[in-house]
Amino acid sequence: MNTVQSTILSIRNRINAAIQRRNQPELQHNVTLVAVSKQQPLDRIEAALLAGHKHFGENRVQEAYDKWPAFKRHFPDITLHLIGPLQTNKVEDAVALFDVIETVDRPKLAEALAKAIQKKGSTPLLYIQVNTGEEAQKAGILPRDAADFIHYCRTDLQLTISGLMCIPPANEPPAPHFALLRRLAEQHNIPLLSMGMSGDFETAVMLGSTEVRVGQALFGERQ
Ligand SMILES: *Cc1c(COP(=O)(O)O)cnc(C)c1O
Repeated sequence: MNTVQSTILSIRNRINAAIQRRNQPELQHNVTLVAVSKQQPLDRIEAALLAGHKHFGENRVQEAYDKWPAFKRHFPDITLHLIGPLQTNKVEDAVALFDVIETVDRPKLAEALAKAIQKKGSTPLLYIQVNTGEEAQKAGILPRDAADFIHYCRTDLQLTISGLMCIPPANEPPAPHFALLRRLAEQHNIPLLSMGMSGDFETAVMLGSTEVRVGQALFGERQ
């Protein structure tokens, strides 16, 4: 077993232990482990692929294009998640490569996505990123604008919104942010919740995350 493979197993075990501790009968779902491969050496990513891992996350469209088309030829059934900010001029490229786009956060971007999806005929899953900490430097729709934005995406643009995603402020306990995101998802009947990273994925799972995005705890330090 390679190192990456055994690390994936131990993270999976920690996720499963957190699932056991959820203690909320209404939470029945499993949790997807997204391996965040940004700025990681190719041999570590390859080790994860050889171990059979399927879900990967990248935060930049260009960086993803530098590595994933080649990997996808050998491992065609992987699911690639875009977890970083998306500029409107990169939307067509993103729609062509990614299976999940987690960072829909403004009307202009949603409009460009609707157009590109129609043009390309591909159907990536779309999540809305929510800036739960209302941080000026962070992407995401503000919680108070979320209802209008979700309605606009669904009704005016005919987009299916499959999930919500958040990155809590680095210097605050994450639990209230995860709870806020879950409340928003429940209010709007949105099934998927992408929350939890290397430092807080167990907390996120206990609060209802359906998908954790783990980078350095899985692959080691970024280059
Ligand atoms: C880099 C990144 C992660 C992974 O962070 P780690 O701390 O390495 O687990 C998760 N989510 C987003 C949006 C990221 O940009």
